[in-house]
Amino acid sequence: MNILVLNSGSSSVKFQVVQTDQDLIAQDGDRCLAKGQVERIGSLALVSFQAAGRPPLKEDVPLRDYRAALDRIVRWVISPESGIEGVSSMADIHIVGHRVVHGGEKFRASVVIDDAVLEGIEDCIELAPLHNPANVRGIRAAAEVFGRGVPQVAVFDTSFHATMPETAYLYGIPYHLYRRYKIRRYGFHGTSHRYLAYRYRVINKIAKGDVNIITLHLGNGCSACAIKGGDSVNTSMGFTPLEGMVMGTRAGDVDVSVVEYLSHKEGMSLPDMITMLNKQSGLLGLSGLTSDMRELLEEEKENGDRRASLAIDVFCASARRYVGAYLAELGGADALVFSGGIGENSAAIRKRVCAGLEPLGVVLDEGRNAVLKKGQMGEISKNGNASRVKIFVIPTNEELLIARDSFRAVSGLPQPTFSPRKSRKP
Ligand code: ADP
Repeated sequence: MNILVLNSGSSSVKFQVVQTDQDLIAQDGDRCLAKGQVERIGSLALVSFQAAGRPPLKEDVPLRDYRAALDRIVRWVISPESGIEGVSSMADIHIVGHRVVHGGEKFRASVVIDDAVLEGIEDCIELAPLHNPANVRGIRAAAEVFGRGVPQVAVFDTSFHATMPETAYLYGIPYHLYRRYKIRRYGFHGTSHRYLAYRYRVINKIAKGDVNIITLHLGNGCSACAIKGGDSVNTSMGFTPLEGMVMGTRAGDVDVSVVEYLSHKEGMSLPDMITMLNKQSGLLGLSGLTSDMRELLEEEKENGDRRASLAIDVFCASARRYVGAYLAELGGADALVFSGGIGENSAAIRKRVCAGLEPLGVVLDEGRNAVLKKGQMGEISKNGNASRVKIFVIPTNEELLIARDSFRAVSGLPQPTFSPRKSRKP
């Protein structure tokens, strides 16, 4: 089956066409046939598409909305120009799978989208005003383009974390606020952390219940996850993706009193403050230069820029702090897994995050770390017993799990569901 996987953002949409079915899943042989993205939807959009083994297509074209962007994607996918094997008409797209950021407490598994599900996703907009509206637009656009004949599936960023015990998801605020408004940690990047747990299990040929690891997704957004027995038991992002580690433009953990203080000092409104914490902080805010880690590393190396260095150091310290916290949370882990654009590609950042963790059993092999090619999977810890906690780099693949979940949901096959674990008694 061919699944069109859509990841709809505020002014962009990323897609993949993934071929999967029960046999391919069993053999781990499902394939990405094509991928691409449309950025700057609403003005002169930037289109970049590529089918497997073919040259990329790049163009600037005015696309006024999501529907127009999706039309452009589908027209290319089914055209002879893309040359995608086995896809030459709309009928060759069998399912559309959507990444949906927030599923609240309601959606603990991926689901086929019907009117009630769409309403449920819309209800979550108040929990994720920056993300879910784009996901809803993507779902509505796909319904218009494909009609009711092509099932659509929602795969939630939050659902993998539904196994967190209350000791991990409750904030220390009056309990009635959780009961009344569901204010709690939800966690995001769940599909990425779930993929990393799955791939770690495959690499090491172990059962799901034996996966006791810490995963670090370091991209523009960053999060850590503590995984016990294959389930998420804690994660660094919270009620929204703002909490946790220092990220590209997000501040991560900040004392909320800063908000009140700044409103007095700078006369900033609440929405301005939230924008500042989400879009002007993190690596960008600290360095005053850029949110792009590659550029910061270059600035540091070429020009010895102090603020670039400082931003990188604060970033690495915040990631390291979560590794330490989750080693305590898990009572020790078998592995630390790096992923995301930064985690997959930057040996320098992996080295800086691991520095000082040796007494906790995390011992990087500098040679193995340095020679691992960009985007390659591999182990980078010292051999044998020298590192009690193994260190791996695993390129993430959220689209693969979205495609698999979509196939299973539509086929009525059992798929992972996530229920809260019992809290650990002291
Ligand atoms: P997103 O979270 O938007 O999916 P990515 O996972 O693609 O983002 O990560 C983007 C980040 O990865 C950027 O900060 C970029 O600079 C960084 N990155 C990509 N390649 C490298 C590299 N070779 N060295 C350092 N950082 C890199």
